Amino acid sequence: MSDERTPGCDLLVISPHTDDLEIGLGGTVALLADKGRSVWGLDLTRGELGSNATVQERWREAAAASTVLGLAGRLQLEFPDGFVDSRDRSQVGQVAAVLRRLRPRRVVTAPDPVRHPDHVETPALVRRACFMARLRAWRPDPGPCLVWDGGQDLGAAAEAWEIETLLQVCPDQGAPSLIFDIGPAWERKVQALACYASQFKRGQDRRDTAINDPAFLERITRRARVWGRRAGVAYGEALQTEAVPVVDDLPPEKWL
Ligand SMILES: [Zn+2]
Repeated sequence: MSDERTPGCDLLVISPHTDDLEIGLGGTVALLADKGRSVWGLDLTRGELGSNATVQERWREAAAASTVLGLAGRLQLEFPDGFVDSRDRSQVGQVAAVLRRLRPRRVVTAPDPVRHPDHVETPALVRRACFMARLRAWRPDPGPCLVWDGGQDLGAAAEAWEIETLLQVCPDQGAPSLIFDIGPAWERKVQALACYASQFKRGQDRRDTAINDPAFLERITRRARVWGRRAGVAYGEALQTEAVPVVDDLPPEKWL
């Protein structure tokens, strides 16, 4: 039985838009779900400024992708698309409220590291929220939150919550702290991305964008191969963290 002092999920992936989790960490999420880990997703915006599809269509696509990946649950806040702001007290409070509700052991921010301002702001916002969620005296308004009906029940909220590790998706030119061997989950990542037909598939009724250009999926594949090559496996996803592991023996994992 969990109570408000025990972690409610193993990993929470926080992204600005619905498809960022799948692009940045789809393989890792599927891999961990296969191992029985409880992985949740949190989308900060509904993606109303996207060139194609309504927010309802995007949420339906996210639900389908969540099923493919085996997510334990998925939530969506209603921050204004394009204006994720790490200095906005309300936004920090809403993320802190989710942290207290889900009680994650680890948190990873999953913006595909590009020039979109929401992708730049999200890591700073989450870092601040992780700190503020520890402060019992702060009682922020949780705000409106969509809950994926295919997920598990949310546990009781803790009065305060402190995560163990904060990570982020490693930029292409960055130094990874760890690489997941996602070979066994690669096909599922591709399937999850295919759920976002409105975003990644071109059609007569759709506007051409950078992400529905077929070259975009090739770029995701190329990146996974580059990290995989670095790790001596077929496909990889890389994460960064400022934290260091604390050990009392040689760690058993492979180091390259
Ligand atoms: Zn995005």
